[in-house]
Amino acid sequence: MARRATVDDFVDALSARMKSSGPTGIAARPRWVNILGIHYKVEYVETVSREEPLDGLISPSDRTIRIYRGLPPEESFEVLLHEVVHGVLMRLGRMEEADDETLVQGLAIGLSQAFYSISNASSPLVDRTPKGVA
Ligand SMILES: [Zn+2]
Repeated sequence: MARRATVDDFVDALSARMKSSGPTGIAARPRWVNILGIHYKVEYVETVSREEPLDGLISPSDRTIRIYRGLPPEESFEVLLHEVVHGVLMRLGRMEEADDETLVQGLAIGLSQAFYSISNASSPLVDRTPKGVA
């Protein structure tokens, strides 16, 4: 019996395509991320937290970022950036700002949009070239 294609298959294929799209392509689901010199493992899990329903969570003590695996690639990337912003602010010792979810989300969205706007537009994930722009 043939195995049904899963979301993971799609994401892996998309990720492989982006990796081959050049140095500015990004992986849909990177497996690790460097936050100011600290190497964080990124895990895509069914349950991020048993205490509350979350899409993402950073754990500095075990240097792990957990992201809900059911998110589409673009959302998954934005959640990863959100957790990275938490990590950067914590690493800078800005604990009050690191706990400010509105600030963290604003920075994550701003960085995400800026990143996409300067990225290689050849992949579906990063194709954000405004219409009418040559
Ligand atoms: Zn947060």
